[in-house]
Formats: sequence, structure tokens, C-alpha cells
Amino acid sequence: MSPTHRFSDSGVDDEVVEVLEDTGRAPASAGASAARSRPALNSAEPWRVLVVDDEADIIRSTQFSLRDVQIDGRGLLLLQATSAAEALQQLRQDPDIAVLLLDVVMETPDAGLRLVEQVRDLPERQWLRIILRTGQPGYAPELEVIRRYDINDYKTKSELTQTRLITSLTVAIRGYHQLCRIDAHQRGLEKVVAASGSLLTERGSLQSFADGVLTQILSITTGLAEGVVLIRGEMDSPAPGPAEAGLLRKPASVQASLTQGRAEVVAAAGCFSGLVGAPVSSLPEALLRALRGCDLSAGAVLDLGTNGAVLVHGHDGDELLLVLSTQQALEPETRRLLALFAINLSLAMDGIQSFRELEHFAHHDRETGLLNRAGLNRHIGAANGRSFAQVAIGELHELRGVLGETVARQALFDLGQRLVSLVGDDGVVARLQGDRFALALASPVAPGLMAGLLEALAQPLRVGQMALQLPMALGWSESAATVDLGIDEAGLMATQLAVGRQVRTASFAVAVREQVRARIALLSDLPQALLEDRIEMHLQAQVRLSDARVVGHEALVRWRRSDGRLSLPGSFISVLEHTGAVVSLGQRMIEKAVQHLRAAPQSELRISVNLSVRQLEEPDFPAWIIEYCQGQGVAQHRLRLEITESAFAQDAQQVGDALAQLTAAGFELSIDDFGTGQSSLGRLAEVQVHELKLDRSLVRGIEHDPRARRVARLIVELGRDLGVEVLAEGIETEGQLAVLRELGCALGQGWLFGRPVAAELQRG
Ligand code: C2E
Ligand code: MG
Ligand code: MG
Repeated sequence: MSPTHRFSDSGVDDEVVEVLEDTGRAPASAGASAARSRPALNSAEPWRVLVVDDEADIIRSTQFSLRDVQIDGRGLLLLQATSAAEALQQLRQDPDIAVLLLDVVMETPDAGLRLVEQVRDLPERQWLRIILRTGQPGYAPELEVIRRYDINDYKTKSELTQTRLITSLTVAIRGYHQLCRIDAHQRGLEKVVAASGSLLTERGSLQSFADGVLTQILSITTGLAEGVVLIRGEMDSPAPGPAEAGLLRKPASVQASLTQGRAEVVAAAGCFSGLVGAPVSSLPEALLRALRGCDLSAGAVLDLGTNGAVLVHGHDGDELLLVLSTQQALEPETRRLLALFAINLSLAMDGIQSFRELEHFAHHDRETGLLNRAGLNRHIGAANGRSFAQVAIGELHELRGVLGETVARQALFDLGQRLVSLVGDDGVVARLQGDRFALALASPVAPGLMAGLLEALAQPLRVGQMALQLPMALGWSESAATVDLGIDEAGLMATQLAVGRQVRTASFAVAVREQVRARIALLSDLPQALLEDRIEMHLQAQVRLSDARVVGHEALVRWRRSDGRLSLPGSFISVLEHTGAVVSLGQRMIEKAVQHLRAAPQSELRISVNLSVRQLEEPDFPAWIIEYCQGQGVAQHRLRLEITESAFAQDAQQVGDALAQLTAAGFELSIDDFGTGQSSLGRLAEVQVHELKLDRSLVRGIEHDPRARRVARLIVELGRDLGVEVLAEGIETEGQLAVLRELGCALGQGWLFGRPVAAELQRG
């Protein structure tokens, strides 16, 4: 390590030469190391000049000549080296040397020129100015060397009088300063561009964004700033209500907040660090006074004595005030950079705002401001023994239609708030899609909370002076393995409960999960069952009650599962109806019935098949069944079509048209389960019907329940009036048969006459 010799500005002889045993580099500028300034740009620093000469006398006389010299208001710090090697080392370690005053002839006749060559190869020394001096005019460097190595001046030592030395040094230093400024400006511009890019990706909190801003600003101002602080106006909490985003706080203007002393420091660095989160009153009073005294307008860079400030605007009124504390007035280049940076910063703030909104609405519900499903999931993470609930609200769609969106939104908001205040710290409330709220409670539901919830849900919702009573249901799930499962299970229960005026509640049981699993397995098995002919037709006799003579059969579906068990329709028809799969099953039953009839062409017996309303909704169904019967040579009247009273009563155009088409083609219609469904009397007048099937529930009560008997009698009489046959279902006893005969019911079906049996057996 070679010592660095530093001349005191005032000293002239050897005694005042300080020998600094440091790392070879004299102390340079103080200030933020990350953004260390070029001393060239900092007027507080002396110019650094390296004098290289193998003659100590020359160094001393140079020192003497430059004593107390100021160039453009700044002193000189003379560094010395007595050989080219030593000089090179100093230049490597001190990037801030402005001028090299270099002797050409030292250890070798061209040592100085070789040094120049090496110096120009060093990175980032291109602005260093070089003045060559030689004692022997004969060793003049070629012009070529001067051009190639960007040498400023070449003088013989005798030529360099004190005045000329100072003149030459002044020119060199000014050149250096100029080049450094241009360079700094250029770098600043590059940083502004790069910083804007990195700020745009600063997606985290305002805090990390602000920290990023300060780092950038310190580097843009290349160390001029002693400290930087970012101030934000006070935030207004939004009024509670179902206002959209709402829940993001709105900032007030910085100017107004400053005047009221209610602004806040959001980020700080340098001399202000430690003030993050503090009120602005913690800043120096002089600075605050200066800030209050000037008109803050976006983008303009203000001079506040030695400080500067710039106001940055986001599009949505968000404002940040960037205050720079410096020891000197800002240079025009720095001001321009700051202004440019402010523009980019405002764009970045908009980006951040949009991102925050996106973030917010990805996890919150717009109408109620509560978490949405994704938000709930993120918020609670794991199920961990929690219990989950779903509230299903009925008639919401109707409410929107009758009273409008605003009222519906207010009602939902009211319900959300009610749930939030009930659950309190025990859990989280979220709004799921449409008509659902979800609750995630920290533990199993306490009976008190359950009672409170039922009570709260039973109370009408309040919108202004209106009280809206919406039907609700509450489903629960406990000990689910995951959050999603818990929410889904609770939802399943809420869905299964009919929403009613009286709030109903049901808790998820493992049995329900089994049921769901079984339904899924069932649906998945249908294609294979059709392929393997496991959809079977059983036939149950229909008789004339007067003499028990068989007049026909009802075709009843049986599903042989892959394990050989036989499933009855009650366990699968409704599931298949929900998915539409009942259509292919029904088609198979019709094909089987038609094949059965076809095998006995002479028979007078008919077969009744049960139709699902989903089949009638298929546009091609009437054409298909007509064509199929014709194709198989089976007369339509031998196939009787049973549809339930509730399906028959439906006021759907498609169903009505299909029935008209079928009767016109010669099919006979039978209304199943008559006397239980909605009143279908209106339809009876429109559609031609051949048979009413007196429902089993009426037959069951017919012996002992006078009301059942009265209804049965009415139906029998209605049939007689309309000229429609009446068939009593589910006759199990002689007593029931006797009453039905007495009432004048002509036809019947039931275990008394025979249970459904497999069609093959029937044929045999
Ligand atoms: P449904 O059309 O009213 O059929 C009569 C039901 O009563 C049959 O039940 C039959 O087995 C049963 N039953 C007959 N006599 C008696 C009796 O004396 N006592 C008692 N307790 N029950 C009796 P099953 O076969 O379980 O069918 C239930 C329902 O499933 C049927 O009611 C029908 O609505 C539907 N269904 C049956 N097969 C089909 C089909 O192929 N397609 C469609 N869409 N639905 C079908
Ligand atoms: Mg039936
Ligand atoms: Mg029936």
C-alpha cells in the first residue's frame, strides 16, 4: 500500500505535507454513499488535482504557485505522486481527481506518455483532464498522441509561469466540470427512465413504493440531497355505505393538510430518516414555513432557499409532496430531472392505484364491501377446526326486479353489516355470489350465536323507511377438511333447505356428503348402464275393478347397478331430471315398452310409460316417438303416456305444444298422481286426456279418512263428467277396493292385484 500525500491548502513546505496512512484515497465528499456525488458537482468540495513529478522541487513549487487559488469559488486539493506507477494507483482509487498535472520524463523518458495510455484505459476516467509538462523540450509527444489520448495542454516547465499554470488549470477544471455535468444529466435521465420502470413494478404497499422513490431521487440528484421526505395529506375515511370501492381511504390535498398540520411523512431518508409515520410537524419549522408559504402545484419544482420540493399528482387526487433538503440551490439540470421524475412518478402512482383497486376487488365484494370467496380463502387460509355457514337469501332476484338495484344493494349491505356485528371477533363474514353470504367461525358454533343468527336473519332488512322481509335459510358445516369444502358443504345444506319466512337451519352431516358422492357415482354410471342394458323395465298390472281383468301395465324403471343391486326410481329420477340425463333413460323405457308391445301384436293390452317433463321439453321428442312407433308397427293408442299432474299443470308453451302434437298423433294421455299436484283443471279443458290416476295418498286414506274419500269421489265424478277414465293407484286392501268400487272408479293398480315384475317374466 502506498501512502497518499496530501497538501494542506495553506502549507508550502514539507512540514505541512500530511501523510495519510489510509487506503490510498483521500477523503472525498461526505453524504449518502449510494448516491455519492461527483465533487465536480458539489460546490462544497475542493477540486482534486494530482501532481505527478519525480522531482520534489517541482511539486513544491507547484504547490506554492497554487497556494490559496480558488477556481470558480472552490479551492484546490493537491495530491502528489512521484512516479507513474504511484500515480496510476492513486487514479485507480480516486475517481474524483479532476486534473492530472503530469511530467512526461520520469523513470523512463516516456513514462508520462505510457501513464496517459493506461489512464485512458481505466473505466470512468474519460472526463479527467490532463496537462503534460516536460523539462526537456526535445521529448515532445507526437501530435498523434495528444489527439488520441485527449490531452488538454502541453507545456514545458519553463513556459508554465504561475499565471499560465493557473490559467491552464482553470481551463482544464472548467472543461472537467462541464463534462461531469453533462454526464450527470445524462445518467440522471437514464435513471429517471429506469426508475419509472421499477416504480411501476413496485406493486406492494405505498411504503415500499415510497422507499423506492427516495432511493431513486437520491441517486438522480447525485448526492446533492442531504435528505428526502415524502409527505402525504391526511386520509379521509369513507362514509359507511354500499359505496363502490369505498373501502380504500381517500387522501386530502397535501396543501390543505399542511396548513392544518395534518399531513404525514410516508417515507424518509438521509437527514430525515426516522420520521416515517410521523406528523409533518416533526420536520424543521423553517422548512414547513417555506412549504406553507408557497403555492404547491403539480410538477413545478419549488426553490425553498436551500431546499426544493415538487408535488406529484395521481389521477384520482392522490398527492405526494417530495421535499429535498440540500445545502445549495438546485442546479437547473437537477430541477429539470426532478420535474421529469415527478411526471413519471405520477404515472407510477396511477399504476399503483389501479393495481390496488384490482387487488381490492379481487378479494372484496363491490356491493357490500365484505370479502368475497377468494378473499375469505386468503384471509383464513386453513380450515383448522372452524365451522362454516352459508346464508341463502330467497327472492333477491324478484326484489331487484320490483324495487330496483339500489334498494337490493342497500338490503344486502344491511344484511352484511348485521352479520358482521353479530359474528364480531369470532369469525369472518364474506359475500359469495348473488344471494349468498358465508361465515367462517373460529370454532364450532356456540348455541348462543346460532340463536342470535336466527334472530338476526328473521328481522326484516332495513332500507330507508322500508322493511323488507326476505326468506332465508342457514346451512352449516363443521370439521370440514378445507375452507372450500366447509363453504361448499354449508352451501349445500342452505340450498337443500327451502328458504322460507321462518328461517330454517341445517347442519352438514357426513351422510349428506355420502349422498352427494352416491349421486355423482350414479350419474357417472348411466352411459355404461345403457350400454350394458342395466336399465330394466318392470311391469305392474292395471285392472278393471269390477272383475279384476288386466287391461294393461305400467312400465316402471329399475336400474341394476354394476354390483347387481336394483335401484328404484325414487332414488335416481330427480337426480337425472336435474341434469337432463332422464331424457335418454326415458327414451330407453319407451323403446323397451314398444318392443314389448311389438312382440304381442294381437294383444289388446296397453302399456303406460312415465314421461318426465324434460322429455316433453325436447323439441324433437314428439316427432321421434311418433316415428319410432310407426317404424316398429305399434299403434300409438297401445302406448299410454303418463305425466304427473304438476308437469301437466305447467304453463309452458313447449310442453303444451308437445302434448297437443302427441294427442293429435293418437297417443293417449294419463295424468299421474292426480289430486296432489297443482290444480290442472284449466289444462283439462284444453288438452285431450284419457285417464286420471287417483293418487296413492288418496287411496290410502279412502277407508277411514272422510276428506280423502270426498276428494276421491269428486275426481271420479270429474272423470265421469269429462268422459275420462279414472284409475286408482296403490290399492293394497280389499277394503280400499270395496270403497273404490262403491264410488264408481272403474280401473285400479296395486299390490292387491300384483307387484311390478320384470318385463321378461311378464312375457313368460
Ligand atoms: P308412479 O308413476 O306413480 O308409479 C307408481 C309407483 O307406485 C311405483 O313405484 C310402484 O311400484 C308403486 N306402487 C304400485 N302399487 C303400489 C302399492 O299397492 N303400494 C305401494 N306402496 N306402492 C305401489 P316406483 O316403481 O318406485 O316408481 C316411483 C315413481 O317413479 C313413479 O311413480 C314414477 O313417477 C317414477 N317412474 C317410474 N318409472 C319411470 C320412468 O320410466 N320414467 C320416469 N320419468 N319416471 C318413472
Ligand atoms: Mg306412473
Ligand atoms: Mg302415480
